[in-house]
Amino acid sequence: MMDIDVTRAWIGYYGDGIEQRADELNRLDAALGDGDFGASMQRGMGAVAEAIGPMETESIGELLKTVGMTLVSAMGGTSGPLVGTLFLRSGMTVGDVNEVDVEGLAIGLRAGADGVMALGEAAPGDKTMVDALVPAIEALEGSEEAPMSTAVRNAASAARDAAEATRELAARRGRASYVGGGGVGHVDPGAIGIAILFDALDMAINPPE
Ligand code: ADP
Ligand code: MG
Repeated sequence: MMDIDVTRAWIGYYGDGIEQRADELNRLDAALGDGDFGASMQRGMGAVAEAIGPMETESIGELLKTVGMTLVSAMGGTSGPLVGTLFLRSGMTVGDVNEVDVEGLAIGLRAGADGVMALGEAAPGDKTMVDALVPAIEALEGSEEAPMSTAVRNAASAARDAAEATRELAARRGRASYVGGGGVGHVDPGAIGIAILFDALDMAINPPE
């Protein structure tokens, strides 16, 4: 089960991962776009830490909704509304509960991913964050009988592999679609951002020694 403390730890590790890899994300975005993705995510997660720090809620849904709304207002760019929507819709779907199991988390994140695809009109294969998000959720959905520790480990591994596999794709959405050859040979920064999100979930459920 994922409780409210684990949910907070997830968001905390996500912020740490973004902080540690912001320069890398900027460099990846410079090859395909304008080089601001790491800085935007860093700004967004800084605002998230400030917003949720003082919250006293026991509701996972309320926490995730606040993360989403804060990212939408603090990040900007193309990715701000998209990453924000992922959290907002996940939080709305999970609702006012103080713990979720693998199935509940998968249902929430699936609704979040559907929201991202509705807003950005990207499908799997377009070389965007969707290409890491969908396989990670599918791994969770395929692990519903497994303990949460195994399920999130599978999801994190799927997200990392899928993010790396965006290297071979030609972009059909976002700035990368204007780059010569659709940016084949470069991984998508948004997909790496999703891999960081699922690595953070893995760390929250399976805390590092
Ligand atoms: P920009 O600088 O072009 O406003 P960001 O740097 O904020 O964009 O975000 C870039 C990331 O956004 C990309 O790596 C990609 O994963 C993601 N992205 C771009 N367009 C879409 C879309 N239509 N749907 C989903 N994700 C998208
Ligand atoms: Mg950019």
